[in-house]
Amino acid sequence: MVAVVAHPDDAELLCYGTLRRAAAAGAVVTVVVVTHGANGVGLTDAADGRRLGPHERAEEVRAAWHSTGIQLAFLGLPDGALVADRQLISAVEAELTRLDCTLLITHSLNADTDHQDHRALAAAAANAATRVTTCHTVLHGEPHAPRTAFAPTVLVDITDILDDKIAALAAHRTQAGRWYLSRDYTCHRAAQAGWRLRPAAAAAGRAYEAFETSVLTLFSQEDRS
Ligand SMILES: [Zn+2]
Repeated sequence: MVAVVAHPDDAELLCYGTLRRAAAAGAVVTVVVVTHGANGVGLTDAADGRRLGPHERAEEVRAAWHSTGIQLAFLGLPDGALVADRQLISAVEAELTRLDCTLLITHSLNADTDHQDHRALAAAAANAATRVTTCHTVLHGEPHAPRTAFAPTVLVDITDILDDKIAALAAHRTQAGRWYLSRDYTCHRAAQAGWRLRPAAAAAGRAYEAFETSVLTLFSQEDRS
């Protein structure tokens, strides 16, 4: 399983619990962070005129995933300017091939008001996945911005991992103060996904990560090679 995300905190936001569950079930899981995120200065730091070093946010990613057994890869492109062109598609395809990706998680294709890097990478990754023969399923995680056309059909129960997800998001110290990293919003999103698709489970207090899918391959155990 491979999560290909634009920025250093995106995998935690989109699919932290899902990746942890997959790793616990024995899957080899890798997070590929495409940009260095150095342009994503936190609100307080920006007010102080502070800039981020090129490796600062990668350290936060390592802290967020520390001792989870999940592998990390950093492509180091500049954030804010991703374009779904041949270079980006080829770079993602090379990572998916290198990692023998079977299931890809990336950003939503329907996040019309989401960050431009998320939209560009979603298109590039979905395109690259069509040329990786091992990749049988593509999931698109929920955008951070609420005002989008995101329409999930896949839920992963993360109730038992929600506290760890909140802690992982807090590891992104340079981003402190951003509303979408807050405990309240994380809990809201995890509940809202259930209220939308499984209200009885949501009423029972279950928490979820939600996904759209552009490719979903179902197969028998004998086909799993
Ligand atoms: Zn992002």
